Amino acid sequence: MMTKLKIRTYPDPILSQRAAPVTDFGPLMQDLFDSMIETMHESDGVGLASPQVGISKQIFIACPTIRKGEEYVIVNPILESFSGKEFGSEGCLSLPGVFAEIGRATKIKFSYQDRHGKKFRLEVENFFARVVQHEMDHLNGKLLIDHFAGAKREQLLVQFEEAKRNPIKGKDRYDILNRNENSKDKLKTKPA
Ligand SMILES: [Zn+2]
Repeated sequence: MMTKLKIRTYPDPILSQRAAPVTDFGPLMQDLFDSMIETMHESDGVGLASPQVGISKQIFIACPTIRKGEEYVIVNPILESFSGKEFGSEGCLSLPGVFAEIGRATKIKFSYQDRHGKKFRLEVENFFARVVQHEMDHLNGKLLIDHFAGAKREQLLVQFEEAKRNPIKGKDRYDILNRNENSKDKLKTKPA
């Protein structure tokens, strides 16, 4: 059964906790995965981590192509290697209205389990790599604004408060894809 889940926003404390590993891949977990996929698409996101829906587990959904059916359910990810660095603008469903330039590795390799607990290893680049790094940050209790300190962080929080008063409507509200037009990504839609 799919349900649209409520997205937690800053400063909900669950967003700053380190998420626990998943050991159970039973029917309730399958429902959660499906509901997260639906919630991500309905929110025009390209990724969604389970702490964002109030469940502090090592789970995220990534769908860099934003096409339904091309989602990755990533469980218990472990970053194995990374290389390169590129700055790009990111937003977050838990920080509506906030966009910030974040430096990320351009290529990463990580291992994970799929929705049935099967182990995989995946190497991704560019925008897909950015999405994975953003979501892995969530599993470590780290938000976009935690990449900054001092005046820059304060400025982002002001943006957040302003957006709360005047929510931006429409398709390109928060998702990081629309803010990343400059990127020359070639997306792979199947696991490498
Ligand atoms: Zn986020």
